[in-house]
Amino acid sequence: MLSGKVALVTGAGRGIGKEIALTLAKNGATVIVNYNGSKERAEEVVHLIEEAGGAAKAMRCNVADAADCDAMIKEILGEYKKVDILVNNAGITRDNLLMRMSEEDFDAVLDTNLKGAFHTIQMLSRSFLKNRSGKIINISSVSGVLGNAGQANYSASKAGLIGLTKSVAREFASRGICVNAVAPGFIKTEMTGAMAEDVIENATKAIPMGRMGEAKDIAEMVLFLAGNQSDYITGQVFCVDGGMAI
Ligand code: NAP
Repeated sequence: MLSGKVALVTGAGRGIGKEIALTLAKNGATVIVNYNGSKERAEEVVHLIEEAGGAAKAMRCNVADAADCDAMIKEILGEYKKVDILVNNAGITRDNLLMRMSEEDFDAVLDTNLKGAFHTIQMLSRSFLKNRSGKIINISSVSGVLGNAGQANYSASKAGLIGLTKSVAREFASRGICVNAVAPGFIKTEMTGAMAEDVIENATKAIPMGRMGEAKDIAEMVLFLAGNQSDYITGQVFCVDGGMAI
């Protein structure tokens, strides 16, 4: 389904990004497994893909750093000549109530979650426009759709990603490039695993389907948006959240 396609997945050494990388590779894409701190885990993802007969390469880059991003994108374009599928998945949280939130924590979250996507999209835009096709998928959050107490920085970054998605979708639509966002709800990964048990219990109560999601639920939506079944869909936000955003 994706054979001949080159995919870049940011933050793909673990969590949702890892599942997205494995799923795209299983469907034929050559996957660049970006990581920042998790080198060994990213190499393990590459190993799993190669073991299953796929192609992948791990590349380090802090997406918040423009120079770092520029170096990674140049290396990718030098080696693979193009990127067909870009998944901006890298993300962090620095939760606190607004009154106690430091400027440093606000900036760190915006720089990784929102500016990171700006960097990768902008640096690949010439290549996408030249190819007159491509899929850009930004991993937002239900927090960016609904807001969430204790996550003003994170919600702002994820709502910002939705604005970025819709604007770039309008700019790139006439060239056949689709830009969409996926807004996961409450998914079992290290990000949510770090939360206290009572917080998890309360958060689960807010899910109409009554359970947390799996990374696989997000990866399946990304696969749909990366493939040609979604060629006429752009500028949309897909909540994969067990009904949280109803
Ligand atoms: P996670 O387990 O904490 O993993 C975060 C990933 O982001 C890691 O692979 C990490 O890479 C990468 N990352 C962080 N900062 C980076 C940077 N500066 N440059 C490059 N990579 C960076 O989180 P997750 O739950 O899988 O979340 C993945 C995405 O889904 C995030 O954007 C998150 O906001 C979003 N999301 C998650 C949930 C949820 O319930 N889990 C809900 C809604 C949205 P390294 O380890 O290599 O540093």
